Amino acid sequence: MMEIKVELAKELKEKPDMSNLPFGVYYTDHMFEMDYTAGIGWHDPRIVPYHKIEMEPASMIFHYGQSTFEGLKAYKDAEGHIRLFRPEQNFTRLNLSNDRLVIPNLDVDFCVEALKKLVEIEKDWIPTGEGTSLYVRPFCMATDVHVGVHPARTYKFMIILSPVGSYYKEGINPVKIYVEDEYCRAVKGGMGFAKTAGNYAASLIAQEKAEKLGYTQVLWLDGVEKKYIEEVGTMNIFFVIDGEIITPALNGSILGGITRKSAIELLKDNGYTVTERKISIQEVYEAYESGKLNEIFGTGTAAVISPVGELIWEDKHMVVNGGEIGPVSHLVYDTITGIQSGKVEDKYNWVTNVR
Ligand SMILES: *Cc1c(COP(=O)(O)O)cnc(C)c1O
Repeated sequence: MMEIKVELAKELKEKPDMSNLPFGVYYTDHMFEMDYTAGIGWHDPRIVPYHKIEMEPASMIFHYGQSTFEGLKAYKDAEGHIRLFRPEQNFTRLNLSNDRLVIPNLDVDFCVEALKKLVEIEKDWIPTGEGTSLYVRPFCMATDVHVGVHPARTYKFMIILSPVGSYYKEGINPVKIYVEDEYCRAVKGGMGFAKTAGNYAASLIAQEKAEKLGYTQVLWLDGVEKKYIEEVGTMNIFFVIDGEIITPALNGSILGGITRKSAIELLKDNGYTVTERKISIQEVYEAYESGKLNEIFGTGTAAVISPVGELIWEDKHMVVNGGEIGPVSHLVYDTITGIQSGKVEDKYNWVTNVR
């Protein structure tokens, strides 16, 4: 393995109020950085003080969006041990995204080691309050100075860290979701399964529209027929209909969430029937009309679980489970956050201990 150089900051930042953390505002004292050069490969891995990066205006990333990212969390348990939730899954997925965007692959084990080393240095930045964590953002970007369309020959890979509280101001309380029927996020053959900046750029207009109407997020339908459910802004989605748990099957345009995968595994383990298949918004509405729509919840690293209390589709309003969090959402939330924080036994071996 390449050796990671460490340069510690001479002065440390003042820590924010850890009991009242907004999402993604504060960054820690250090970051991880590594470069790629065609013909050489990834080189010069280093942990350095968090710093500004100087780039030329003609750098490719500013023009063609050749970039990928990940999001995961580090926690501190009651004994002060640092825990990472399935980090190898994130770096494996980063390579999947990189393949789609023609960005060179990273060594998954090396990235996990680099992250462990960085998080260890920043351990005092890991908040310990309920619902808080140290959010980890690894990302790759094209750095060639060339306004020409082709895959770059140079890249940067970085990891930055941010102490965070709840992703939604609602916390674990149910959110209101708007079913988007005009715009689409991704189509099969596009980049929907990859975690890349462009997918988010495509989503902002609908997100803004939903917010103006008083909703927290958008529920995306498939881009071709506008019939089948894909996912929610930054989350995968689950429906509990007549006791059965249904989530859209990964079809190329949906992001394969690690929280989604974990939720499926633990729900099956708890005796639930979980089906991954196509599900239309019409089917959800019919289930609602017949009183069989028990619960809806979203899954994603940032919010972990977000129950959906209300869904609006065209002129149809669906209030789910009386606008309250239901038992399945509760089970998934308690189990995953319990494993993450060390309060629930990690029988699936999902946690990587930093030391
Ligand atoms: C990251 C992300 C998710 C959730 O994935 P997790 O691995 O569970 O965090 C869902 N949808 C989109 C579009 C995402 O970018």
